[in-house]
Amino acid sequence: MANLYWNKKIETATRDELNKQQLKLLKQQVKYCYENSLFYRNKFKAARVIPDDINTLEDANKIPFTSKMDLRDNYPFGMVSVPLDEIVEIHASSGTTGNPVVGAYTTNDMNIWAELMARSLYATGVRKQDVMHNAYGYGLFTGGLGFHYGAQKIGTKIIPISGGMTQRQIKLMKDLGSTILCCTPSYALYLAEAMTKEGIKPSLDLKLKKGLFGAEPWSERIRERIQTELEIEAYDIYGLTELCGPGVSVECSEHNGLHIWEDHFLIETIDPKTGDVLPAGEEGELVFTTLTKTGLPILRFRTRDISVIATEKCECGRSHSRMMRIRGRSDDMMIIRGVNVFPSQIEYAIMGLPELAAQYQIILERPDVLDVFTIKAELTEKTQNSTPEELRALKLKIKQKVNNITGLSPIIELAKPGELPRSEGKAKRVIDMRSGKI
Ligand code: ADP
Ligand code: ZN
Repeated sequence: MANLYWNKKIETATRDELNKQQLKLLKQQVKYCYENSLFYRNKFKAARVIPDDINTLEDANKIPFTSKMDLRDNYPFGMVSVPLDEIVEIHASSGTTGNPVVGAYTTNDMNIWAELMARSLYATGVRKQDVMHNAYGYGLFTGGLGFHYGAQKIGTKIIPISGGMTQRQIKLMKDLGSTILCCTPSYALYLAEAMTKEGIKPSLDLKLKKGLFGAEPWSERIRERIQTELEIEAYDIYGLTELCGPGVSVECSEHNGLHIWEDHFLIETIDPKTGDVLPAGEEGELVFTTLTKTGLPILRFRTRDISVIATEKCECGRSHSRMMRIRGRSDDMMIIRGVNVFPSQIEYAIMGLPELAAQYQIILERPDVLDVFTIKAELTEKTQNSTPEELRALKLKIKQKVNNITGLSPIIELAKPGELPRSEGKAKRVIDMRSGKI
């Protein structure tokens, strides 16, 4: 049987072995932070904790949280824990307001990142023989280069196309025989749409087999659409600049959650309101601690990403815990007329309708006291010629689907095919105009 694992020993280690290794690394990482970072030393002092207090994995909950704000406040190098000469590469997150979040890597950090990306790609079936069309943005964003380094480690042929120039992307995908597509899920949908316009049938004209999609929340419905429209198998992959970039977790062929590489990251789920640790299996905010980072180690980072952790061994043989598809970011959660709603819930509710294209927008306004909640959905080439009665019925259907899930009754507007903005990177689906948010 072909080898399934990039690093069989560690990917299939028993829970006991993993826990033992994690505890050893956690103690080391905490000590390292305490000794090398004034930021962490101060945090520990304020919380009256010393490294010797950490004797079990559960003791991690004594360590104070680190937030995105801490990284912003200490921009650019305040949290770097090595002499700056040892930093060999710097990335930054796509944050559009305030100071960006900087990721600073030592040679060791770069090696681990490449290793974890190789492991992640391999788990989805990427091999040396593949041709990888990498349409994640190259540059400061960790997406492009993260995939690049991982693929290079496997020896896969990489097409570093980055984002943009969609027609040329399709031409190159065809001419170079790409077998793997890597990009955001929203860009995958855009590519699929552009292919249809050009009369390209993926299974006939292209060699694409699989795609690795991440960097933004996406729903099961969007997976179905991508799989049908591009005629490929779609894998979810997750990461964030604060930890390394992509390569923190990835789906295996079971498509039942994303394996978190626990030999490098300690995972906890917390109640986002109280900060209390939740038992595995309960939905909450993911909190990660890096176990092996040296440049910019992160203890108990609050991701604001909402998910559930499954700790049982997976059918694929890997023991590393799985995080279920991210439901959304806690700060993306909308409060509409007092109801908590994630954009992904709306997406799930309406993207199953074949009458609609894969684009939508959520618009929130507050002309006086009450929120006005509008969903703009886009018609397809086929449905744009529907009769007024059919359109009315479609609007009602969308409204009911959203109502079933949220209890809210949005105003539904139908846009013409191609009218809503397409994204080459992370999509912006929510336009919140309440209290001058925009
Ligand atoms: P930014 O915060 O500017 O988007 P990053 O590029 O580091 O910075 O993005 C990391 C974030 O992207 C994660 O915290 C998460 O919210 C989101 N993300 C990344 N991968 C996925 C995924 N597979 N599913 C859902 N969300 C994801
Ligand atoms: Zn698995």
